[in-house]
Amino acid sequence: MNRPTHEGNHKAMMKALVYHGPQRIEWEDRPKPVILQETDAVVRITTTTICGTDLHIFKGDVPAVSDGRILGHEGVGVIEEIGTNVLQFHPGDKVVISLISSCGRCPFCKKGMYSHCLTGGWQLGNRIDGTQAEYVRIPMADTGLYLLPPGVQEEAGVMLSCILPTGLECGALNARVKPGDTVAIVGAGPVGLAALLMAQLYSPAQTIMIDLDENRLKIARSFGATQTVNSSDGKAAERVLELTQTTGVDVAIEAVGLGATFDICQAIIAPGGRIANVGVHGKPVELHLEKLWSSNITLTTRLVDAGSTPMLLKMIQAGRLDPARLISHRFSMPEILKAYDTFANASREQALKVVIKNEGS
Ligand SMILES: [Zn+2]
Ligand SMILES: [Zn+2]
Repeated sequence: MNRPTHEGNHKAMMKALVYHGPQRIEWEDRPKPVILQETDAVVRITTTTICGTDLHIFKGDVPAVSDGRILGHEGVGVIEEIGTNVLQFHPGDKVVISLISSCGRCPFCKKGMYSHCLTGGWQLGNRIDGTQAEYVRIPMADTGLYLLPPGVQEEAGVMLSCILPTGLECGALNARVKPGDTVAIVGAGPVGLAALLMAQLYSPAQTIMIDLDENRLKIARSFGATQTVNSSDGKAAERVLELTQTTGVDVAIEAVGLGATFDICQAIIAPGGRIANVGVHGKPVELHLEKLWSSNITLTTRLVDAGSTPMLLKMIQAGRLDPARLISHRFSMPEILKAYDTFANASREQALKVVIKNEGS
């Protein structure tokens, strides 16, 4: 095997998707990552995907991401190399990469808020180089990686890096979905659909999906949404109130990240209801306390902690969940810019999750 070494001047190179400021990404040569800390692992990516958050970064909504950053926080791969203090994994293990790194020791980790770990959190494709590359360095590998169990396909596994834990933790759990609830989800993109799959675990009576795109609403119905509302006429809130005999919904999950979609949630929430924000917001929204101050509502926000990943892996392994249904398109790594274009034009392309395979692997 012709594998250049890390020593000397012969830096091993790889291909990676690199952010160069708003609206500029390139598939280019970068040095292959190496072990920097004894708790690191280097993983050869075999499957990755693009998150809605990556599109927010692409648009410039996440200013913390700097020029030169390799994007991506989702992936499945094979461990190539481990630091001396990685105890749970070995080279050759096939793993799911979690978007969240956690030390397990800091005050936030001790509260289960791994996303706010003082030395970790959401780092990949944000504060450190990410997974849309042939290789990635994973810090604190023992807590940030999960062994892909036998029988779980890579395409299902990659949905556990971000989207499914997000739908569960930021959506269904934060909104405290209960049996018999009426749940509205604003946004039927991949995260909204993941929130639907996760809300269904708690037996809601009614699940109303709201989106501008008829194709996505059709998919939402195939995922079991009991009703769908096309919001393109600007009258989604009225329609939801009709569907709930003017009461409104017990749960409104915002899965877009815009003022207009947050407004729908505020307009349809019933007294005692819970609004769970999942979307990444780049701009301020208006909070209508002049209407909601007396409505006993709860508003939650969260960055996914990914503590639910082992449980979700078990459910997939048991055949209780099939998250690969969220995948609409497949690309090879050199086609990654095409994958971005497809995902960014989701309505035109009828795209949900786009999966990118490292066929050289
Ligand atoms: Zn994500
Ligand atoms: Zn921590």
